Formats: sequence, C-alpha cells, structure tokens
Amino acid sequence: MKITSVEIYKMDLKLDYVLKISLGSTPSAENILIKINTDEGIVGWGEGSPYSFITGETQSTSIEAAKFLGKLLIGKDPTAIEENLTLIKRYLPTHPSVRSAFDMAMWDILGKESNQPVYKLLGGKNRQLRTDKTMGHENSIEDVQKLAQDYLNDGFNEIKMKTGRPGNTDYLHVKAVRDLVGEDVHVKIDSNQGWDLAESLKNARLMEPLNLMYFEQPMPVWNLDDMVRLREKINIPVCADESVFDEVDAFKICKLGAADYLNIKLGKSGGIHTGLKINAIAEAYGAKCMIGCFNESRLGLTAAAHLVLARPNIVFLDLDAALFLADDPIIGGMEYGEKNKSFITIGEKPGLGVDIKEEFLQKWKSFKIE
Ligand SMILES: [Mg+2]
Repeated sequence: MKITSVEIYKMDLKLDYVLKISLGSTPSAENILIKINTDEGIVGWGEGSPYSFITGETQSTSIEAAKFLGKLLIGKDPTAIEENLTLIKRYLPTHPSVRSAFDMAMWDILGKESNQPVYKLLGGKNRQLRTDKTMGHENSIEDVQKLAQDYLNDGFNEIKMKTGRPGNTDYLHVKAVRDLVGEDVHVKIDSNQGWDLAESLKNARLMEPLNLMYFEQPMPVWNLDDMVRLREKINIPVCADESVFDEVDAFKICKLGAADYLNIKLGKSGGIHTGLKINAIAEAYGAKCMIGCFNESRLGLTAAAHLVLARPNIVFLDLDAALFLADDPIIGGMEYGEKNKSFITIGEKPGLGVDIKEEFLQKWKSFKIE
C-alpha cells in the first residue's frame, strides 16, 4: 500500500466552556484534521490540537508542518508506522500534535487494512472506560460549587481542578468543592507550572487534609529537581504532565524520582506510537499513567481511548475535551454515556472507527498534498 495524497483541514471548532489555566486560555479550538489517502482506497483520519503554551504550535504553523510532512510521506507504505514516525520525528522534532495526527491516521489505515479496531492491534481488550471532568480557574466559591454540582449531576466521580494561582484562592476553591462533593468523589489538582517549590509546598500542606488524588505539574517543565524535593515532602502523589513529552522525558523523570504518575497526551507524545513507549517506561519504574488531552474532538479522543484499552497501566483518564465543544464533527468513535457522561465506550469498527461529517469538511479550508 502506498500513500497517494494527504489532505489537511483547518479544523475550527467552537467551545462551550473556556478553560482558564495558569498558562492562559484558548477561546476556540483551532485544530487540524489530516486525511491520508492510499492507492488501495483505504483512508486514515487523524487530528492534532496545537496548544501553543505547551507544545509551541499554532494552527497556522501546524498546517505548514503538515504540508511538509505530507510531502515526506507521499509514496510511503502507511502501515510501516515505526519507520514512518521515526522519519517524521527526524525531519520535524517539534510540532508533536501534528505528528500525532499522522500517527493516528496511520493506525487508522493499519486497522482498516487488517479489519481490526486499533486497540486490538495493540493487544488490548474492549471495556467501558471512565473519564474525569476538568474545571478551570473560576472567580468565586459559588462558581466552583455550581460547576461541581453540574459535574455530579452528569455522573462524574472524579473532578480535576486547575490551580496554580497566587494566594490562597485555589485552596479555598478546592476545599469548597471537597465540601460539596463529599469523600466518595475524587478531586485532583493541576497547577500547570504555576507555582515554585515554596508555593507548591505551602498549597500542598493546606490541601493535604482534602484527600486529593494527585497533584499535577506543580512547577515549570524544567524544574525536575524541585519536583523531586516536593515529592519527598508531601503526602499527595505528584503527576508530571508538561514535563513529559516522550520516552526520553519519561525515563529522566522516573530515574530522578520526580513523579508518581506520568500524563500521556497524544498531542505531546506525537501519537500512540510514543505513548506506548512512555507507558512502558512508567511500568518499568512502577508508575501509573494518566491520559489527558488538549482541545481535541472525539476523533483525537478516540485514538487516546484505543491506547487506554490496550494498556491497563493507564489508569487515570482526562478525556473530557469533546464535552467542552459546541461542535461535534465526528461520526462513530468514542461516545460518552447518555445518562452518565463520565462513561466512555468504543465500538468494534476497524481502525479508529471514526468518520467526519460532510458538512464540516465542506466548511473547513483545506489543502491537498499529492
Ligand atoms: Mg495537566
């Protein structure tokens, strides 16, 4: 099989809820959609959600990067995933969310060619999954309690709160949520690099009685030494997110003992291929993994869910992005439960099991590399 052309779509999606975090916020989801066409008529879909604060990409740089990678792949066998992704990373070590879109599309093609869902190609087993739901920086205790109540009403039993602000606002908000939800619901925090060691320690001490599930990315990406110190001093497990893009980062973090958990995001790792490697390193170290997301639609989240089904060491799920979108351009793929929105199910269709609604394809600006 050979790749004959690559289509790149400017995948603009409206957001219903703008998540404010320490690094900033994105008013809409400016994603890219990739379609790989082959000489056998099999097509593969992939999505990237460039998140400039973290991955250093914007939608326009991603489109240019995708054109470049498209040219590189014309004539290649899309099922030779290891070889193609090694080539892609050599030519473009940056732009992980674009690389992840290509990764997904190639797994999609391999699955369709073998008539198997992607999780099965990876040795996984289908089951129902459950995600948390995230809440951004809100203004008042009333706001966080109202959101937490909405999340409970929708069936969520894990709430992730964005922290990382100066002062004691975050502590008061997390406490207000804990007071509202009781002890049976998991609460976790994510500071997105917002604090230094002293602030992280101060907040962790305040929040220790609140029985938090874990404390994600307290400090700047590069500050692994202080993450080690923090982890030694507090009784809340530490999770590395922005500090871990690929297997090399994972190895460094595990070797230093800088985190209890590693957050895999396909948009950081460059797709499923490297997500598998991060998880393998975490397992060797005895660490659990979490899977997160940026502003992906159900397409990108479907790829992430296939990886989770294939690797039970990935135990914490934050695959809520599509719940914040006003648009749903996806047919098939992962579905949230009707009554309980925290449940995620994936069907048995070959590949990713995803299609794109024609009205969106017509609407989005596109480019074709052949
Ligand atoms: Mg995070």
